[in-house]
Amino acid sequence: MTWDLIGHDWAVQLLRGHILNNSLRHAYLITGPRGVGKANLAIRFIQALTCPEGGSSGNPCLVCQTCKRVDRLEYPDLFPVGVEEESKQIKIDQIRELIHNLSLSPYEAGRRFGLLLDFENASPSAQNSLLKTLEEPPGSVILILTSITSSALLDTITSRCEEIKLNSVPLDVTSRGLQELHNIPPQEAQFLAHVSGGKPEIALAMHVDPDILERRRNLFNEHLEILAGNSVRRFAYANQVSKDPHKVRELLDTWISIWQDILHQSSQSQIPLQNIDREEDIQHILRQVDFATTRNSLILFRRAHQLLGENANLKLTLEDLMLGLPTISTSL
Ligand SMILES: [Zn+2]
Repeated sequence: MTWDLIGHDWAVQLLRGHILNNSLRHAYLITGPRGVGKANLAIRFIQALTCPEGGSSGNPCLVCQTCKRVDRLEYPDLFPVGVEEESKQIKIDQIRELIHNLSLSPYEAGRRFGLLLDFENASPSAQNSLLKTLEEPPGSVILILTSITSSALLDTITSRCEEIKLNSVPLDVTSRGLQELHNIPPQEAQFLAHVSGGKPEIALAMHVDPDILERRRNLFNEHLEILAGNSVRRFAYANQVSKDPHKVRELLDTWISIWQDILHQSSQSQIPLQNIDREEDIQHILRQVDFATTRNSLILFRRAHQLLGENANLKLTLEDLMLGLPTISTSL
């Protein structure tokens, strides 16, 4: 069996079983954290269903023209929908266009595929407009939705899909996959497995674009400054970064990973450090906070993360967060 994915073997087996047993569902919902490989799993599944070389194996060859076109999302029977540039949401017009395309006969494959990426970003009206197609899909259509969590979607959507819940990939599996499938040297692969928290797509993005690691280093340092800073400094920072929503998302991911590390260390859990290159800084904070403070900080971060998903006011959300964080004297 090989779909050349890092981790998620059980999900590959399940989907491959649906192909081999002729028990395909009309709609799938793949959920899991950002960067865990939801879209890749969806693409491999579509390749397995369209590859002319795979025969009855349920495996795509990954090298034929069909596999390559599906991978580039340029296959004529595949209709991807996601948040368009300069937009925050998947809009109702995009869903209407998708429904129209899916209603036509397949051009090349035996079926047509709707791929709805990061559907947690679909407006309620866009989600509602998909309901009828989910209830009575044309016979030759398979819909695949991805979302960080099913709770971000309407119940009427999730109840009509088979959910496939992906988790972070164990660090040793991530590291091995980076080495074997992407030829990344062992030491770098192990480092990337840690700092990505077992999210293969984030690890690969960091490998390809060193700027991501540089930004992560800067965000880590900025957090140390903020923890040492007074409320004036913290509010000025909140005001400044709230102008850049992309930075806020990276900031929260990095800062949450810091506090998760502190929590794991303070509870003496065996979970390895995500910020493996910043152990000294983690220990420095750990010496100045108790367990309750750590847990409260993480609750604050998770709330901020959730509010951002609901398109809350960035500046207010960040100011609330800043107010709640403890003060830590600087180590530098
Ligand atoms: Zn192929």
